[in-house]
Amino acid sequence: MASPTIKLSSGYEMPQVGFGLWKVANDTCAETVYQAVKAGYRLFDGACDYGNEKECGEGIARAIKDGLVKREELFIVSKLWQTFHDVDKVEPITRRQLADWQIDYFDLFLIHFPVALEYVDPSVRYPPGWHYDGKSEVRWSKTTNEQTWGAMEGLVEKGLARSIGVSNYQAQTLYDTLKYAKIRPATLQIELHPYLQQPDLLKLCKREGITVTAYSSFGPTGFIECDMDRARDAAPLMEHDVIKGLAEKYGKTPSQILLRWSTQRGFAVIPKTSRPAIMTQNLDCTTFDIDQADMDRIARMDLNLRFNKPTNYFDAEDLWIFG
Ligand code: NAD
Repeated sequence: MASPTIKLSSGYEMPQVGFGLWKVANDTCAETVYQAVKAGYRLFDGACDYGNEKECGEGIARAIKDGLVKREELFIVSKLWQTFHDVDKVEPITRRQLADWQIDYFDLFLIHFPVALEYVDPSVRYPPGWHYDGKSEVRWSKTTNEQTWGAMEGLVEKGLARSIGVSNYQAQTLYDTLKYAKIRPATLQIELHPYLQQPDLLKLCKREGITVTAYSSFGPTGFIECDMDRARDAAPLMEHDVIKGLAEKYGKTPSQILLRWSTQRGFAVIPKTSRPAIMTQNLDCTTFDIDQADMDRIARMDLNLRFNKPTNYFDAEDLWIFG
C-alpha cells in the first residue's frame, strides 16, 4: 500500500502518510524502521531530540541494501533542536544529523520549536534536551527566529535540505516568518487531533499555501507513553463515543477515523507504532470518506487541550511558549 503525495510550495512531492519516530526505542528502532519501509511507508519523521537518528539510519540503510526501496523514493524529515538555533550552529548540526541518517540531504528539515536556547556542545550531551545543565536550568539564546530561518535557507542553498519548514509555530510567529522568508516554510507540523483543532491556524496555512502535518493524531495516547498526568486524565480518543460510533459506521478502526479526519482535509499524518499489522492499518487512512455531517460532529469535540508543551513534562520556569 502506498500513500498519496502532497505537492509542497517548494515543488517537491511529500507522502501524505508517514511514520513518526518519537519514542521509538534505540534497541528496536532500526528493525522498526525496516518493517515500516516493508509495510509501505516512505516518509520518516525524525528529530535530533528523539535520540535515535543513528538507528533510523541503520534501518534505512538495510532497507536500501536489501532492495526494498531506493533513497530517492524516501522522504526523510528531521528537525533542528532549540540549542542549535545560533546561526553558526545550524549547518554543523545538520551535517551531523545527516551523517547519523547515512544520507546527504534531508527532504524536509524543520525548526522543531520557535525557541532559541543556549548552545550545548553535542560532545557534552546529545541529544541536549531543554535544560542547559541537563536537569533544570533554562538558558535562552539571543538568536531570533529570523536569524535561524536565514540559516535554514542556507541549508537549501547548500543542498543539505530540499525543503524547509517549521513546527510548533502559532499564527503570530508564522505571520512574522512570512515577512522575512526568502524561502517560505513548506510545511507546518503541529499537534492536531479532535481535542486540539486550531481552526484559525489551519485557515492561515491554507491561505498561505503551507502544508500542515498533524502530529499526535491519537491525542493523549502518544503522551501516556511519556508518563504525562494530563494525558492519563484525558478520555482516550479511540474510546470516545463519537469516534467509536464513526468507526462502526464506516467499518474502520477508531485510529483510521482519527487519521482520516486529518487526511481528508489535505493534511499529512505521521502515526507511530511498533506493530507491523498496525503500521499497515494506519497507512490505510486515505481510501474512504467521512460525511460532512460526521466531520462536523468531530469538530464539536474540540477542547483546546494541548499535550505537547514543556510545562506538561517538567516544572518549567520561563518556558510558557504557548502562552
Ligand atoms: P501517535 O498519535 O502516533 O500515537 C502513538 C501511540 O498510539 C503509541 O502508543 C502507539 O502504540 C499507539 N497507536 C498507534 N497506532 C495505533 C492504532 N492503530 N491502534 C491503537 N493504538 C495505536 O503519537 P506521537 O508519537 O505522539 O506522534 C506521532 C509522531 O509525530 C511522532 O512519532 C513524531 O514523529 C511526531 N511528533 C512531533 C512533535 C513535534 O514537536 N514536532 C511532537 C510529537 C510528535
